[in-house]
Amino acid sequence: MFVSDILKIKGTDIVSITSDEPAAAAIALLCERHIGAVLVLDSHERILGILSERDLVRAMNTFREEVFAKRVSELMTQRVVTCSPQDPVAAIMGMMTAQRFRHVPVLEEGRLVGLISIGDVVKSRIEEAQAEVEALRQYITT
Ligand code: AMP
Repeated sequence: MFVSDILKIKGTDIVSITSDEPAAAAIALLCERHIGAVLVLDSHERILGILSERDLVRAMNTFREEVFAKRVSELMTQRVVTCSPQDPVAAIMGMMTAQRFRHVPVLEEGRLVGLISIGDVVKSRIEEAQAEVEALRQYITT
């Protein structure tokens, strides 16, 4: 299974925000879309950063009630690790585990084509394991 297989099912819809918006807008977006992170893009769809629930929790602890007015640019992670559609899902799972993040944008020839989450990765790995079990069962019983 490859990242491209996940995108075929999930689609290439990307939830994003601009860096000058307030954290309150990012929080509203996460709640409305039932997601854990938003990508921060410039007007050319280039990645400037990523802002996840974890960043917002840390910021709440630091800034308390002032957190809502902070700019997204002040709270986001700037060095964003990306992957390609050709990457094996198992490798992305290893990377997420080792580097302790749950979201990875997908770039194809420098162009943003999707974002996968740990939920997508786990779902894909479970389906792969189930398919292997089924293939082995058929091999044994035929
Ligand atoms: P998450 O587990 O995705 O909620 O993110 C945990 C931390 O890692 C947060 O500080 C995020 O901003 C950051 N983060 C999430 N995804 C990435 C990524 N692909 N590259 C670099 N940092 C990330």
